[in-house]
Amino acid sequence: MAPTSKPTTTPINCKLLLIGNSSVGKSSLLLRFSDEQWLPEDESSATIGVDFRVHKMEIKGKKVKLSIWDTAGQERFRTITSSYYRGAQGIILVYDVSNRESFDALPRWYSELETYVSNSVVKILVGNKVDKEFSRQVSTVEGQQFAKRMNSLFIEASAKTAIGVNEAFQEVVERILDTPELWDGAAGRSGGQGTSGGRGGMPGGVQVVGLSDSQTQGQGQESGCAC
Ligand code: GDP
Repeated sequence: MAPTSKPTTTPINCKLLLIGNSSVGKSSLLLRFSDEQWLPEDESSATIGVDFRVHKMEIKGKKVKLSIWDTAGQERFRTITSSYYRGAQGIILVYDVSNRESFDALPRWYSELETYVSNSVVKILVGNKVDKEFSRQVSTVEGQQFAKRMNSLFIEASAKTAIGVNEAFQEVVERILDTPELWDGAAGRSGGQGTSGGRGGMPGGVQVVGLSDSQTQGQGQESGCAC
C-alpha cells in the first residue's frame, strides 16, 4: 500500500531584524518579547548584548519559527554588515519617542533597506519608550504619517511596561504570512526570497554597509541562516 503523506508540521522559518539608532531599546524589546524580561536601566547597558533569539509561535494555524536578530551594537560604529540583512522577511525599525534624533535618523535606515532588502519584505516602525510620555519628542501622528509614507506598519511600544511589544512582533509575522512569496517553499531553507545577499554582496561574504565612516569594528556577525 502506498504510504499516506504525513501532514506537514515543518514550521515556517522567519528571520526578523531589529534596526535603528543605538539606545532606542532594540535589545530591550527583543528581551521583553522572547524572555518576557526587563532589565532595570542601570543594569541594562552593561548586560544587554543580545544578538539573536529563536522564538516559536503559532499564528493563523501555522507554526512559525522566528529568528530575531539584534544588531548587538554594530550601529554604534555606524556600520552594519550586509550579511545581517540576508534572508530577512521582516524588519523592525525602532526609534525612541523621547529622542528626536533617533526619529530623524530613520530616513537613513530606510535608505539602507532600499539597498539591501527586497520591496516585499515587511517593515514595521516601532516608536519605543512610550512610558516616557512626559518627555515625548515625537508625536504619535508624526510616527504614523512617516510609517505610512514608508509603506510600513506602525506601533508605539514600551519594552519597560511591555505595552505594544507582543503586538509589534505579531503584526509583522501576520503580514509575512499574508505574503506567501516571502516564505512559500522556504521552510527548512534559509530565508526564502526575502532578501538577496545585498546588491553586489557575495554569498557568505561579510560586506560592510557604511552609513558614513568606514570603521569596521563590530562586524563579523555572519547571519547566514534564517532559522
Ligand atoms: P539598543 O542599543 O537599541 O539595543 O537599546 P537598549 O535595549 O540597550 O536600551 C537602551 C537604554 O534604554 C537602556 O538603558 C534601557 O533600559 C532603556 N530602555 C529600553 N527600552 C525602554 C523603554 O521602553 N522605556 C524606557 N523608559 N527605557 C527603555
